[in-house]
Amino acid sequence: MYKKQSNFNRRTDDQPVETNIGDRFPLTIKRLGINGEGIGYYKRKICFVPNALPDEVVVVEVTESNSRFLRGKIHSIREASEYRIEPRDSYADNVGGFELEHLAYSQQLEFKRDLIQQSLEKFKPRGFQNYKIKRTLGMDHPYEYRNKAQFQVRILDGHVAAGLFKTGSHDLVDLPTCSVQIPVTMKVMRQMVKLIEELNIPIYDEEQHSGIIKTLVVRVAHGTGEVQLTIITNSPKLPHKRELLAAIDEQLPEVTSVMQNINKGETPLIWGEQTVHLAGQEAITETIGDLAFRLSARAFLQLNPFQTKVLYDETAKALDLHSDENLVDAYAGIGTIGLTLADKVKQVRGMEIIKDAVDDANFNAQQNGIENAIYEVGTAEELMPQWVDDGFFIDALVVDPPRAGLDQKLIDSILNARPEKFVYVSCNPSTLARDLVTLTKQYKVEYMQPVDMMPQTPKCEVVVKLVRI
Ligand code: SAH
Repeated sequence: MYKKQSNFNRRTDDQPVETNIGDRFPLTIKRLGINGEGIGYYKRKICFVPNALPDEVVVVEVTESNSRFLRGKIHSIREASEYRIEPRDSYADNVGGFELEHLAYSQQLEFKRDLIQQSLEKFKPRGFQNYKIKRTLGMDHPYEYRNKAQFQVRILDGHVAAGLFKTGSHDLVDLPTCSVQIPVTMKVMRQMVKLIEELNIPIYDEEQHSGIIKTLVVRVAHGTGEVQLTIITNSPKLPHKRELLAAIDEQLPEVTSVMQNINKGETPLIWGEQTVHLAGQEAITETIGDLAFRLSARAFLQLNPFQTKVLYDETAKALDLHSDENLVDAYAGIGTIGLTLADKVKQVRGMEIIKDAVDDANFNAQQNGIENAIYEVGTAEELMPQWVDDGFFIDALVVDPPRAGLDQKLIDSILNARPEKFVYVSCNPSTLARDLVTLTKQYKVEYMQPVDMMPQTPKCEVVVKLVRI
């Protein structure tokens, strides 16, 4: 390969290394980063290598080079890790959703603990050196667990394709199989691809901004087997709707609810504002423990039904509630956490920003005969201080925010109300560690219990028990 004879190559300590795209060099992988990629150091510069594992020596081919970091792909593996295994979706490299499939599951569980440790070391909340991080609770069969497939639909090589974009791009990878999905979700997805192609329904084209079908969402309620299909379209029109619905009715008896969501225009958001009912029921019903939960298309639910109860049992254990206490269920979704705990407390109040989910939560309280729980539409950061001002005394609080973590206003409100019992369920160790910096002014971390909700991915869920000091 041509090498530039510039001063850059005769490096002294204060000169940067010039590395060009396409350069190759051997690299020893030191650890995994937050996205599950291998990390090594080339001439002291950090180098990210997706699919490489700790202790491996790989020949890296540079794909991105800038002053702060290098990114590369594996050209060849010189020394493979003893924990490297054959991935089940090997054709799907560079698609999010199974970034760690080449790593033995026992090591994935270790990695998730390590991720929490890495985040704590970065943000250094008070006393972090002494936090007890328990062993990650994993699955016996860490595949076929996802209850929801949300696949983009495009034309590839003249055919309808449904799958996921390559990380950081809009290049679709068709996914005829997907080892982390519950099989029925894939069965419905592939049959839909076939039907849409047969009926010649126009597919969305991002460049032309033309066509109709953008995304297919298939969600199964594991407890009842009910499946909801949502077709996300670029317009309220859905050509061949009648034929499509008749074919779904005939060929996919497991589908009990068909919805259409309309998302006009070029937007990074997948869901639009308007959801219309096309056939069957408007929602599906999931069961968790002894309770039944109505679940609308727009509402969030934990993606792994096999681990949801494990997560909620850990939450209950960490909260250790009493019958004279008031519990706040913040970021409530369809009320699953609060309603599971309602029989242990005097009263549950919860909030959530998606109105359909709040309607589900209140309906779910009623349909399960729970009379001491109420859910409101609004943000946690607005409603919690209001409730405190209105004289609602919070004995116990559970927060389960999205990846962005807690709003500073909510943290201020928590530090002001000082509930005695407080559990933080986090799906992002980074924002958790950041939030703990302020929360630990008044709370001590008793322990952290990681629960693996997303095997084969670097996603990490953790239940944190906080104790007021
Ligand atoms: N506890 C539920 C849902 C957790 S996911 C469960 O276990 O299923 C996080 C939820 O927070 C989502 O439903 C999302 O719509 C909601 N949300 C996002 N931002 C919020 C905010 N600022 N205040 C309240 N809820 C919010």
